[in-house]
Amino acid sequence: MPSNRDYYEILGVSRDSNEDEIKRAYRKFALKYHPDKNPGDKEAEERFKEAAEAYEVLRDREKRKIYDLYGHEGLRGTGFKGFSGFEDIFSAFGDIFEDFFGFGGKGSRRTRIIRGNDLRYDLKLTLEEAYTGKEEEIVFEKWGPCDTCSGTGITPGTEPGMCPNCHGRGEIVHSQGFFQIRTTCSTCNGTGQVIVDPCRRCSGKGKIRLERNVLVRIPPGVDTGTQLRIRGEGESGENGGPPGDLFVVIYIKEHEFFDRDGDDLKCQITVSFVQAALGTEVSIPVLGDDEERRITIQEGTQPGEIIRLKGKGMPSLRRGRRYGDLFVQVMVKIPTRLSQRQRELLTEFGKLEKQKIGAKTRDFWDKIRGV
Ligand SMILES: [Zn+2]
Ligand SMILES: [Zn+2]
Repeated sequence: MPSNRDYYEILGVSRDSNEDEIKRAYRKFALKYHPDKNPGDKEAEERFKEAAEAYEVLRDREKRKIYDLYGHEGLRGTGFKGFSGFEDIFSAFGDIFEDFFGFGGKGSRRTRIIRGNDLRYDLKLTLEEAYTGKEEEIVFEKWGPCDTCSGTGITPGTEPGMCPNCHGRGEIVHSQGFFQIRTTCSTCNGTGQVIVDPCRRCSGKGKIRLERNVLVRIPPGVDTGTQLRIRGEGESGENGGPPGDLFVVIYIKEHEFFDRDGDDLKCQITVSFVQAALGTEVSIPVLGDDEERRITIQEGTQPGEIIRLKGKGMPSLRRGRRYGDLFVQVMVKIPTRLSQRQRELLTEFGKLEKQKIGAKTRDFWDKIRGV
């Protein structure tokens, strides 16, 4: 649950403070309420989380602008949820904590926590599948820890050697006059160790391509472009970092009868001009349990007229258990080949119509001439 307290107040900074001031203020709070310094202290834990959340918003120009203009409500509108726990906070600010607390100083081994990459999987569905929703098992490859060396990159049974560049210290000290400058060793990336006998399975990388099966629950109403986020199914993190997420991106295949427009569906049916004139009943396919539905074509239906079937569209992904509508456009077919008898009847029909049409036609020309 995101905090409801004012973020500026939480960090004790003014509304016009700059990025540096905000970072300094957060550093102060993070040091004071850090869980390592306050084990088991619920109050400190809350403060620590609150400060992290305030900092997460105020350090980000975009989020800060939204917060300044619309407050907490505005951020909630963007899907901002704050942090659920320490793990979240450390993975978001891992590099900052290293800066703050000076990890890597005094010869300690510096290992960066890195979150795993997100993955994307494109999934094609039929309109029927999108209507009902379904569970789909997807199979994909991702980087995971090598099971031969348990992710260490070292052949089991052998030991890593001391880094020859930094002699195991993880950093290099340069002297410049009176000053000493410490930099992370580039040979071992600060770990102080190098692999002497790399694992053959993963060539020392510590990770290999793994095949992964994941059961994805697809809710009814998904559309092309819908993204389902499956937490933790992305690639594994490094040095204890959290895994990334898997994003399943939905594509809906074209349907032979229905066009989709958001939650609504559209289709066309064709009736003969006699059916349009006299009225009739026709069966049309619908999605869902009914499969078919009879609709009435009213007497005197004009070409292009639209019949709306409420609730016969797609289930709405966002509006709970509601459904869109189905719009049926009635097309009217004019016969192209007439039998002798049909021609006689239509000619007869035309004679009956003539007076009306003739009258209209005269009116029309009178109007044009301004009579
Ligand atoms: Zn080294
Ligand atoms: Zn390996």
